[in-house]
Amino acid sequence: MHKKDCIFCNIIKGEIDSYKVYEDKRVYAFFDTNPINEYHTLVIPKNHYQDIFDIPEEELVAVIKATKKIANIYKEKLEVNNLQIFSNSGAKAEQDVFHFHMHIVPREENDGQDINWSTKPELQEKFDQLIEKLNN
Ligand code: AMP
Ligand code: ZN
Repeated sequence: MHKKDCIFCNIIKGEIDSYKVYEDKRVYAFFDTNPINEYHTLVIPKNHYQDIFDIPEEELVAVIKATKKIANIYKEKLEVNNLQIFSNSGAKAEQDVFHFHMHIVPREENDGQDINWSTKPELQEKFDQLIEKLNN
């Protein structure tokens, strides 16, 4: 299943160039063209799924297994010992390409990067309420 106007589907079809780092039956991985650091990699299912809600469990398993393999390769070959792995689902969660993907970002001391979330410790006061809503 490929979506005609999807950038990542077109990468899998070979219609858009990419720097491939890994491929298996279900998964493809390549460099992000707007990298945060060297070896910033995107891991995607070959089939088109929009996001975490859309992707079937077994396809997600294939993606996370490939992510683990790539992490090991980067450790063995590049001595990368620090990685951030994340995925955005939905426009408000800063997803820009609507074909599910995991980001793998190698990190090192003084690499000029910093995820700086502003935390909300006051939300602890609401935890009971939040749990209750889940259990309704
Ligand atoms: P997200 O914001 O999580 O949806 O991430 C989408 C990522 O895809 C961004 O980091 C982009 O730099 C990257 N990207 C967009 N187009 C391409 C492309 N043609 N090849 C490689 N990476 C791309
Ligand atoms: Zn796609």
